[in-house]
Amino acid sequence: MEVQLRDVTMQFNDITAVDRLNVTIKDGELVSMLGPSGCGKSTTLFMLAGLYRPTGGEILFGDRLVNKIEPEHREIGMVFQNYALYPHLTVLKNIMFPLKMRKTPKKEAEELAIQMAKLVQIDHLLDRKPGQLSGGQQQRVAIARALVKKPKILLLDEPLSNLDARLRLEMREEIRRIQQEVKITTIFVTHDQEEAMSISDKILLMKDGKFQQYSPPQEMYDHPENEFVAGFLGSPPINLFSCSMKYNLKDVSISGTDDVITLSSALKESVSTNDQLTLGVRPEDFYIERDENKPGICGKTIMVERIGRDNMLNVEVQNKTIRAIVSPDCPVGRGDIVKLGILPGRAHLFDAQTGENLL
Ligand code: ATP
Repeated sequence: MEVQLRDVTMQFNDITAVDRLNVTIKDGELVSMLGPSGCGKSTTLFMLAGLYRPTGGEILFGDRLVNKIEPEHREIGMVFQNYALYPHLTVLKNIMFPLKMRKTPKKEAEELAIQMAKLVQIDHLLDRKPGQLSGGQQQRVAIARALVKKPKILLLDEPLSNLDARLRLEMREEIRRIQQEVKITTIFVTHDQEEAMSISDKILLMKDGKFQQYSPPQEMYDHPENEFVAGFLGSPPINLFSCSMKYNLKDVSISGTDDVITLSSALKESVSTNDQLTLGVRPEDFYIERDENKPGICGKTIMVERIGRDNMLNVEVQNKTIRAIVSPDCPVGRGDIVKLGILPGRAHLFDAQTGENLL
């Protein structure tokens, strides 16, 4: 089912936790809500769940306005961080619980619960109690319980944060598999950018209650709409340099150096030579430039580290350490002066004041 947020706002006294959020989530999509702590992710999820009533705006499920609809009438399934399973009930009874509340006949409830247990691959654990399960298995039970009523929308609040690194990886793939099998519109809260990048159709990135960008992960990574988005995605993070426009809309000079970078596309017409700009380059978008006549950013290599196929260089430029991930085909040693070229089309230029992307 499609979900629409129109100017959705949540005010807690003088705190605006969510500020005029406008987003449409298409039927069957998995959307991650991502952003730093306190940006309003959980508040948004709780409004979708019906646990909070927005102080402004409209939430629509399909074409039904749900602002005033109670949680139990919203046709949603929800999975929380701590699973919230009933410790004294078996796995089977835990999964059946929402159906029992709904007074579904026992036999039918049992059949549906077993069907869900199979979907999440815990049908061999039906007689166990939650205390006898691993974290990943408990999470599977929580997902089965959320899906057993055949909800139209699945809401997940940091469902993986209590799991260790290996299980997190396994469970995020499982969540994607289950979601695609059931084809259910899913909204997933996380503060882990890698998690959001790996499983989402789209990411909704927020900061201080405000919308930043809503795009497919790769598009957000390649075309961040502002400096915050560029900095939030990517590990190691994007390198940022103060700079200004030089002679024309395609050349920028790096502040405090003689280096001039030529961009492959022009800056917005409104940019002038007086504006303070920020150049952003992701570590993997550098290469070692050997041609003296070609542009690049010069610095002294202070560390070389082998990471898988590539080398990661720490290079000192203007008292700042920048990171470059480059092919080991161009040998570089500690102490070497290197010139870092930027792969065509991979430079990002931002307004230093507003953060707006200027390309
Ligand atoms: P985290 O990743 O830490 O869970 P979040 O992005 O989910 O953060 P929210 O929990 O939605 O953020 O909080 C957004 C803002 O609203 C924060 O400033 C928070 O302090 C505030 N807030 C959340 N719930 C309430 C509440 N019940 N009363 C008052 N302020 C609240």
